[in-house]
Amino acid sequence: MANREYTRCLIIGSGPAGYTAAIYAGRANLQPIEYCGMQMGGQLTQTTTVENFPGYPQGVDGNQMMMELREQAERFGATLRDGEIVKADLSKAPYLLTTDRGDEIEAETVIIATGATAKYLGLDDEKKYNGQGVSACATCDGFFYRKKVVAVVGGGDTACEEAIYLAQLASKVYMIVRKPYLRASDVMKKRVEENEKIEILYETNTLGLYGENGVEGAHLVYRKGEADERKYDLPIDGFFLAIGHKPQSDLFRDFVDVDEQGYIKVDSPTQATKVPGVFAAGDVCDPRYRQAIVAAGTGAKAALDAEKYLNGLGK
Ligand code: NDP
Repeated sequence: MANREYTRCLIIGSGPAGYTAAIYAGRANLQPIEYCGMQMGGQLTQTTTVENFPGYPQGVDGNQMMMELREQAERFGATLRDGEIVKADLSKAPYLLTTDRGDEIEAETVIIATGATAKYLGLDDEKKYNGQGVSACATCDGFFYRKKVVAVVGGGDTACEEAIYLAQLASKVYMIVRKPYLRASDVMKKRVEENEKIEILYETNTLGLYGENGVEGAHLVYRKGEADERKYDLPIDGFFLAIGHKPQSDLFRDFVDVDEQGYIKVDSPTQATKVPGVFAAGDVCDPRYRQAIVAAGTGAKAALDAEKYLNGLGK
């Protein structure tokens, strides 16, 4: 039979936003319960070194940072659980959330910190070759492409980071960029441009993939729709997507407001959604910055907002 329990503060998600919310809510004695999701630690566990989080002059391994945040949250009394929230009823307080085991949680406040997931181009071949040469995580799968030829799609900071990482393993890395320039920051642009193993294919789109047993190449088009359009095949062993992310807000869209991309809207300068006692933090509500330090900051704000809300109710 399903268990039902009550909490003053339920945190959903375990990236820098979720863990920081748990640290703050724990220290405020809210005895929060945090559901850590399928990918405990979030996107930073798929990156290599985090170089831009203040306090780490030499950078810090993403996994290590998440383990330490987790430890810190537990030290202040947060209860951390594996597993996911699969259903949310935010129509009336206390809110009712259901876990993937079928257990129910009544929560006085909810902090949504579910993050974002990688986007795909939407080609049938991405599904066909998923796990057979198609990946959205270079640091997870790059190991399989030692001394091989790979392509990274995208021209932002993520694509540059993935290309640089893959260049340490692969013999050659192509970047497939649809615009005539990279969107990435200057420092990342410089690093890819100076890397001898990386070749940037500007104004290029992917039409499909081919291969007998896994990816053996990509069908590309240069300057699609222009007078000098050219279609050609590029032999590659791996195809990595780095074209941005989609916020994981589907579960909550019937109750909170989201923008046209699905990012949860909050009532700035707080992290409050339009549902009283329900707050959002991190990438799920941040179409603009999507940085670990910003996620951690909004996690802290959400917990402080939750504490204030509960104080107002006298709970
Ligand atoms: P971005 O949205 O910045 O870049 C996405 C890239 O993918 C763009 O080049 C975009 O092209 C391209 N793209 C999107 N859709 C398609 C498509 N259908 N076909 C082909 N190309 C496509 O996402 P990122 O994940 O790179 O970065 C997100 C945020 O995180 C940014 O603010 C970034 O600065 C930050 N970040 C910072 C890092 C750091 O500081 N170390 C590391 C990683 C990310 P177009 O330009 O034409 O739109």
